[in-house]
This record gives sequence, structure tokens and C-alpha cells, in this order.
Amino acid sequence: MARYTGPVCRLCRREGEKLFLKGSRCLTPKCSVERRGYPPGQHGRENQFRRGRASDYLLQLREKQKARRVYGVMERQFNRYFERASRQKGLTGYNLLATLERRLDNVVYRMGLADSRPQARQLVQHGHIMLNNRKTNIPSALVAPGDVVSVRPQSNRLTYFKDLRQNLDDRRVPRWLTLETTNLSGRVLHVPAREDIDISLNEQLIVEYYSR
Ligand code: SF4
Repeated sequence: MARYTGPVCRLCRREGEKLFLKGSRCLTPKCSVERRGYPPGQHGRENQFRRGRASDYLLQLREKQKARRVYGVMERQFNRYFERASRQKGLTGYNLLATLERRLDNVVYRMGLADSRPQARQLVQHGHIMLNNRKTNIPSALVAPGDVVSVRPQSNRLTYFKDLRQNLDDRRVPRWLTLETTNLSGRVLHVPAREDIDISLNEQLIVEYYSR
């Protein structure tokens, strides 16, 4: 599946806020949003002062783009997620977010096995993660309640995972997931409720974007 391979800090600057795509660096003064808090591009700095009131369309577009960028999803796949969410019962915006949260790379990130979603995606793609005791390298695989996500036994011996085990106590796993720090294995308890998804997104704007 295709993915964005350009500079990720640019994406944060475009959205005008931190999307936390680079792990621990995002929490340091080296963060590009802190150093250059204006849109990227040749005229980014001058344009930030020229803009008037944003149109409804612009707000909707930006919210959709932000969601795509936070979860690392390309346009076409995001459209498919939206179609799927709109066919499900209940609120389409929530269904969309719940589907994005259930992506395997997001679950690996939420469990604290990676510092960022892009890193979690790489761990999955490199075959370090098992879903229900079977190796899977598909970051977009959707987990369901009862599924077990774990680090492959062979990978458990790698320095990265050894170090991770030492520091995992500090991390907070959301209540819809569990994590056993001894064997780096966790379970999906239920589909996350909206209040479990701590992300500053207005999903209603995304629904409006697709309802035009
Ligand atoms: Fe975004 Fe992190 Fe880069 Fe800051 S350091 S701009 S939060 S990816």
C-alpha cells in the first residue's frame, strides 16, 4: 500500500499543529512547528498574514487532511474508510475514527510499542508484530475485540524491544487495550468509544466534507 514518503514535519506545519509523527523529537524544541510555526513553501510565511476568514470548505478539507496525516492513510484508502463508515449503523464520523483506531499500526502505537504511528507502521511492515499469533506485515489490518497483538518471539530478543520493556511502565495504554509488559503482548478489549480516542479532530467536519 502506498504511503507518503516526503518530509513529515511539513505536514504538521501545513496543519498548523503538532501531529506527533516523529516520536520523542516532537516533544523537544527541535520540533518544526515550534521553530517555524508557519505553513511550508516559498510563500508560507507571508501567506499566513494574508489569509482572511477560512471558508467552511477549507475547514472541512483541513480536518480531513489532518485525519489522513495523523493515521498515515492515503487519499483513496481514506475514501474507502469513509464509505465503509457511512454504511455502518450509528454516527458516520465516529465510525470513521473507530475504524482508523482499529488499524494494526495504530494499535501497536497505542500499546506503546512504538513512539509514533510511522514507527509502528515500520515495525509491522518489518514483520516484528503478530496478530492472533500469526505474523502479519499489513499495517492496515483491522483488529477486532478479542484479538491478540504481540511482538514476535524472535524479535523480542532485539535490543529495541529489550530496551522498550525496561521503559514501558511509564506509558499509558488506553482502556480499550491491555498490555503485558513481560512478553509485549496485548489484547483488544472492545472497539474504542469516542472518549477513548484522544485526538483533536472534529469528525463532523470530515462528514460535511464528503457530504458536499
Ligand atoms: Fe510534527 Fe513531530 Fe515534526 Fe514537530 S517534530 S513538526 S510534531 S513531526
